[in-house]
Amino acid sequence: MLAAVLREYGGPEVLKIEKLPDPEIREDEVLVRVEACALNRIDVWFRSGRYRTSLPRILGGDIAGRIEKLGGGVKGFGIGQPVVVYSVLSDGTCRYCMIGRRNRCVNVGFIGGAADGGYAEYVKVRDYNLVPLSNLDAEIAACLPIDFGTSLNAINLIGGLTPVDTVFVMGGSGGLGHAFVKLSKLFGAEVIAASSSEEKLSFLEKIGADHVINYRTEDVRKRVMEITHGMGVSVSLDHSGSETWNLCLDVLKKGGILLTAGITTGENASVNIAQIYRREARIQGVYSYLKEDLIKAVELASKGKLKPEIFRTYSLSEIVEAHRLFDSGNFTGKIVLKMR
Ligand SMILES: [Zn+2]
Repeated sequence: MLAAVLREYGGPEVLKIEKLPDPEIREDEVLVRVEACALNRIDVWFRSGRYRTSLPRILGGDIAGRIEKLGGGVKGFGIGQPVVVYSVLSDGTCRYCMIGRRNRCVNVGFIGGAADGGYAEYVKVRDYNLVPLSNLDAEIAACLPIDFGTSLNAINLIGGLTPVDTVFVMGGSGGLGHAFVKLSKLFGAEVIAASSSEEKLSFLEKIGADHVINYRTEDVRKRVMEITHGMGVSVSLDHSGSETWNLCLDVLKKGGILLTAGITTGENASVNIAQIYRREARIQGVYSYLKEDLIKAVELASKGKLKPEIFRTYSLSEIVEAHRLFDSGNFTGKIVLKMR
């Protein structure tokens, strides 16, 4: 098979197309012919070496395709069946797995990180990691797992969103941000989203954000307070880290919840404790997603209630250009590799 292989960490150019033997499957594994694989920030972190794995490695955790071959012990799936991959790897036996929180597994890993992923014509996965598809295009399905799954996990962790909620999303135009904006609107919340350019703000308005703020040219705290009549928001999502975390805490109203889901700009922030307890604010970490979250995202997309926004598709041979675009940040929504 053809695959984009990572043999050394570095810039986009380290991803090289190679011909490799097709993966061999075990009894409980399935060989999936990859039709589409969406890019994510975690791919860039593995590529650049910010996250380390054993090399060589095939990246890509957001995978949709069709079943090519079944291991002898696999039941309930058929050759040719369209599927999307649940990308979280877990042992299935630890105390967290036993209570259904596979994303908290003591041996957690990710397809496209700890195991080979979808920047290839074929990928092998455990049968547990498959979710059947009915009527979704592969490139749409491939956008669902990490961004929409993680957004649904976040929303479930805080007990849901309703029309009484006001949500602030910092960096709303990327993969996770746009998923959270779309889901918040679907559940009826009022959404304020911040981004860095007029193009990205128009995109956010197009996907349903009620209010948009340019964080490069506007005072975000002031604008959020104006929009919310001095109250602040009930839920704030930060997936950028150090640079934006305190801002996302500041804009909460009393009893509000800060969802923290990423560290792109750094891992450390200092916090004013009084600001948390006097407002009875909550801080909720969000780490990846459950299989149930992906099943829900697939269901919503299949019913036409949810549609990821694809900025551009590339072929596997254009992987370097695809990563260059991702690194540039000059895109909205998702970048997707289409295999054929
Ligand atoms: Zn476990």
